[in-house]
Amino acid sequence: MGTRAGQQRRAGASVRRGLLAVLAAAAVLAGSCTGGGRAPVTPEQNHPAHTPTPTHSPTRPALPRLLSPPPPPREKPVLPAAGRSAPVLDRVPTRDRVVFLTIDDGIAKDPRFARLMRQLRVPFSMFLTDSMAGDDYGYFDRLRHGGNRVQNHTLTHPSLTGLPYARQRAEICGQQARLKREFGRTPTLFRPPRGHYDRTTLRAVADCGLRASLLWGVNMQPDGLRYDNGADRLRPGEIVLFHFFPPERLGGRTLTDLTLELLRTITEQGYAVARIEDYV
Ligand SMILES: [Zn+2]
Repeated sequence: MGTRAGQQRRAGASVRRGLLAVLAAAAVLAGSCTGGGRAPVTPEQNHPAHTPTPTHSPTRPALPRLLSPPPPPREKPVLPAAGRSAPVLDRVPTRDRVVFLTIDDGIAKDPRFARLMRQLRVPFSMFLTDSMAGDDYGYFDRLRHGGNRVQNHTLTHPSLTGLPYARQRAEICGQQARLKREFGRTPTLFRPPRGHYDRTTLRAVADCGLRASLLWGVNMQPDGLRYDNGADRLRPGEIVLFHFFPPERLGGRTLTDLTLELLRTITEQGYAVARIEDYV
């Protein structure tokens, strides 16, 4: 288990325990204010002038109603044969009306985004680059709630095309080892930085023990969803590329706004978000 992530998790648990103790003490004090007995109920308390609790406010956006994914397939779809190399997918071969959310790099560590994803319980996979995410792996460790997985996006995010095998292998296997050390689990999927790769990459991906390289069919950018799939709609099994965008890339929007827009689009087109590791 990664020491840094583990320490932060333990620190988080002790903060939570502290909070519970404070809340318990407050409850005791509140009880003692009424002399420990039950206070008489006044007519006003019985029928209080009730202001409905707003379901949302400008600072807390309304959460979209998401479609539920079907149960995971009993057997994973057969991937294209790739010999000694790992297959490359821009879409998962399935007829289920599901898409897969993949979030890259790990530059921004936005607590509001973390809170939103926890509320929505939408599955996603994080493709982390050590040089961008490595200053706070604890943030991504907390995002692993509910089974979200961390996957491999190289140590330093080079364009791999044309690089010698040893360099490519060092980038990919190096991040495998780093993520295993931090999170206690070996990644199974790889995404080449910028989507650039060659045959050497695919051999290194297989040699580092990864199952497949993932590209994408659609790409959520700060100015909206781009259909790189040549269609103007999502398709079953679509792999959605998204990023942990830092504020300076968002043009005044927030990562939360962008996430909600993406999830609304997915839902309006009749798709549910499923977990890619259940399929690949
Ligand atoms: Zn990237």
